[in-house]
Order: sequence, then C-alpha cells, then structure tokens
Amino acid sequence: MGKRKSARKPQGRVKKTLDTQFDCVSCFHEKSINCKLDFDQKVGHLQCRMCGVSYTCAINYLSHAVDVYHDWIDACESVNASAKAAKAAAQDRDRGDRDRDRGRDDRDGPSSRRSKPYDRYDDDDD
Ligand SMILES: [Zn+2]
Repeated sequence: MGKRKSARKPQGRVKKTLDTQFDCVSCFHEKSINCKLDFDQKVGHLQCRMCGVSYTCAINYLSHAVDVYHDWIDACESVNASAKAAKAAAQDRDRGDRDRDRGRDDRDGPSSRRSKPYDRYDDDDD
C-alpha cells in the first residue's frame, strides 16, 4: 500500500522569456541581432551589433520581436530570390538571342520549280 508517486518530476522549468536576440543572417553571428518594438510608433526595429545591418518594419500590438526578425528574414530572402531571378532571366535572354539568330534562316517558300516543260521533240525519224 504505497502512495502513488506523482509522475511529475521536480525538474526546473525553463524560464520562458521572449527572445529578443537572434542570429544575424547577414554576418552569421549568433545572437547579435537586437530587436526593439516601439508600440507607440508601431514600428519594429532590429539591428546587428556585429555588422550593423538594420531593419525596420511595421508592427501591431500583437507583434513580438521574433515577428520582426522573421519579417527581416523574409525580406532578405525575397531580395536574394529576386536577384537570382534577375540573373536567370538575363541568362535566358542571352540564350534566347542566340536561338533567334540561329533560327533566322531564309526560306523563300517553295523554291522548286520542277515543272519543266518537255517541249523537246525528238523528231528523228529515220
Ligand atoms: Zn550581422
């Protein structure tokens, strides 16, 4: 007749704090991004204390620092993506020009006039 042990272990719970320091995607330093939310101005601001890159975006009263951070990453990725897309488009354009040059063959329609009149009489009657 033992007491049922509680399954819960007396483990120290991790303190749940809102992260306001993030890894920089510009210089790849860890925890070098400091995030500030200005709810009066409704702007979120982050800055890397290592490389100095900064980003500002609009926030609302539900926003957290991590939202600003994700916003920034999205912005960085879209910049990268558009740069990549522009490069790919340029390459495509080059290739297209070459193709168009090669494809410009002169074809003058049906150039075969093979209806030669056989008007040659062989009047060679011995
Ligand atoms: Zn940085």
